[in-house]
Amino acid sequence: MVQIWNQRFNLTALTQPQDIVALHFMDSLTALPVLQEEQARFEQVLQVIDVGTGAGFPGIPLKVALPSLRLWLLDGTAKKVRFCAAVIKALGLREVWAIHGRAEELARTARREQFDVAIARAVAPLPTLVEYLLPLIRVGGLCIAMKGSEAQLELEQAQRAIGVLGGAPEAVRPVQLPDRADRRALVLIRKQRPTPPTYPRPAGAPRRSPLV
Ligand code: SAH
Repeated sequence: MVQIWNQRFNLTALTQPQDIVALHFMDSLTALPVLQEEQARFEQVLQVIDVGTGAGFPGIPLKVALPSLRLWLLDGTAKKVRFCAAVIKALGLREVWAIHGRAEELARTARREQFDVAIARAVAPLPTLVEYLLPLIRVGGLCIAMKGSEAQLELEQAQRAIGVLGGAPEAVRPVQLPDRADRRALVLIRKQRPTPPTYPRPAGAPRRSPLV
């Protein structure tokens, strides 16, 4: 479906099947052990939101691998949400919802601080990304930022933003894809305190003027 829809809509820059498998599916699954650990730790069904899911990455492969997840796929672009909804239907997935909207706006609804885990891949630099993710998760919940080789540097740049938004860095976990040289990492941030009500700022502000 990624390949077929990509001919009409610009869903992903990757066109070769082997690249789609490795760089979308396998890469998405590098977060699976973290979700399994979170689930074991809380002994309950995890409520997960994939912010800026695009064509459903990493959310949909994670849902297939861990069917017990309750998963929300959020994207600000309507055509991507329509694609995700079509995949959900085609695969017969349950307890997964594709929603159209911006993270900054969802955090101003009853969904604020309701999720156990917020995850994102290739959405924004970390100081911006934490303003999307941290307001959405409950105290004790986890942010997973799927990053490239500059993860440690990004984390340093996001230190202040993380603290302001009620989080604390927990770990940077290196991940490696089979047969690929590039180095990637999962940045894990734990929510320690409620996010102050002034955050997130209005849509667009976290990207325009990151909390650095
Ligand atoms: N996570 C996917 C897509 C990355 S592209 C992947 O890894 O392949 C980034 C996506 O984030 C785009 O689809 C864009 O519409 C979405 N996005 C960016 N900022 C957003 C925001 N503030 N709220 C919701 N979606 C956002």
